[in-house]
Amino acid sequence: MTRLLIVGPPGAGKGTQAARVCEYLDVPTISTGDIFRRNIAEGTELGKQVKAIVDNGDYVPDELTNALVKDRLEQADADGGFLLDGYPRTPDQVAYLDGLLASHGHSLDAVLQLVADPEELVRRLRQRAGEQGRADDSEEAIRHRQAVYQRETQPLLEIFRDRELLLRVDGLGTVDEVWERIRAALSARGIARAA
Ligand code: ADP
Repeated sequence: MTRLLIVGPPGAGKGTQAARVCEYLDVPTISTGDIFRRNIAEGTELGKQVKAIVDNGDYVPDELTNALVKDRLEQADADGGFLLDGYPRTPDQVAYLDGLLASHGHSLDAVLQLVADPEELVRRLRQRAGEQGRADDSEEAIRHRQAVYQRETQPLLEIFRDRELLLRVDGLGTVDEVWERIRAALSARGIARAA
């Protein structure tokens, strides 16, 4: 039973590594960014509410994001653990998640932090923009998302460091190299694939 977060600046490769972690530990990934994008693509009520915010690279209001995560975490497949990607991103979201987990007698096991140089990340994201055509991958939007991350989310890392949950992993290198570092960091915490 493993409850994890993965955090890092936009473009650090969270989504790619999250997929590996989830396959390895057999837990679902819950990516708030993916959920928002899917709702936007499908034109749901939620999608209409958040489209302008997400396209602009700003944070969706905590109330909306928290409610969405609550719904998702209370689905049966998250009972046996999960990896949250892109949540929590604000102090209010951290407090909300703590309360939600505590109400089920649960808590976090570790927080994976992908560390990477901002300029390299802008380069990577520009490339992804060419490949995937994400509306929020223009250079201006990317720089804006990075600034928002630094201002709003970076300070949260101290909370997790103080709780001794933070596993810092160098996010530069090939997907396999980074994955190997993550696997080693998890293993050092006693978190590994069930035999
Ligand atoms: P990135 O890795 O570029 O930050 P994400 O897929 O994690 O991309 O998120 C894309 C967008 O979805 C964010 O810029 C924001 O608008 C919205 N979003 C995702 N997660 C959250 C969250 N926890 N709180 C508020 N907004 C969020």
